[in-house]
Amino acid sequence: MSAGYELPSLLERLRLKALPTLLPALLAEARAQQMTYEGFLQRVLVEEVQAQDRRAHERRLRAAKLPVRKSLDAFDFSFQPTLSERVVRELADLSFIQSATNVVFLGPPGVGKTHLALALLAKALEAGYSAYYTTLMQLAQDLETVHSPMGRRCLLGRYTQPRVLLIDEIGYARLSAEQAHFLFEIVTARYEGSPILLTSNTSFTEWGTLLSNEVLATALLDRLLHHAEVISINGKSYRMKGRMPLARPPSPLS
Ligand code: ADP
Ligand code: MG
Repeated sequence: MSAGYELPSLLERLRLKALPTLLPALLAEARAQQMTYEGFLQRVLVEEVQAQDRRAHERRLRAAKLPVRKSLDAFDFSFQPTLSERVVRELADLSFIQSATNVVFLGPPGVGKTHLALALLAKALEAGYSAYYTTLMQLAQDLETVHSPMGRRCLLGRYTQPRVLLIDEIGYARLSAEQAHFLFEIVTARYEGSPILLTSNTSFTEWGTLLSNEVLATALLDRLLHHAEVISINGKSYRMKGRMPLARPPSPLS
């Protein structure tokens, strides 16, 4: 056999990275089970492709910069009676990605907005979509670090290229004119193509103040809400769950 056509070199050249380790066990299994040639070939290729899928998922996961892993299974829907479990479960089928429907979670702190948005992002990553997590504050700060048109274009790509973008915590930071324009560019570039998940504790009527520009806020919301699912959660904070009211100090008369 000519040099370079030995099995280890062939596996390396074809970038079949999982097989060098797995092959001895797979060969032993094939011998023990007297597999057909076709059955063996399929078994080997399935193992390699599954390993490649796992690596790709890990790469997407790293690129997505999730602050923490959350899942729908870990969400206690009975704690939030105003939230429709059916609507959230339907979103988890990910058809919102195909239809480029934005998803906005509105509500006070602690009701699970970030948890639900992160769980949907995790589903999208598992299904093979690229995704990216940011807070609005982080997005605004990132813009302050670029000082050239090229750098700005690069940064815009970070927010427009991933198939699903999550912008968390809208409402805590008030944007400068430049930052508000940047957000508007992101929303416009993604409009009717790739969805945005948003969480906010601020009602849409206050977005003019948030973006320091009423006209821009109206145009941004017009695009954002044209195809959108708005989920309002009006319950108690989960962070306060189980906390007993503080015991009152005994009164001097008792
Ligand atoms: P928000 O973004 O609305 O401020 P978070 O999603 O950050 O709230 O939730 C606060 C914490 O409580 C997180 O650790 C989250 O996982 C947890 N949490 C919130 N709601 C629920 C729930 N219904 N079931 C389980 N965990 C929850
Ligand atoms: Mg949050």
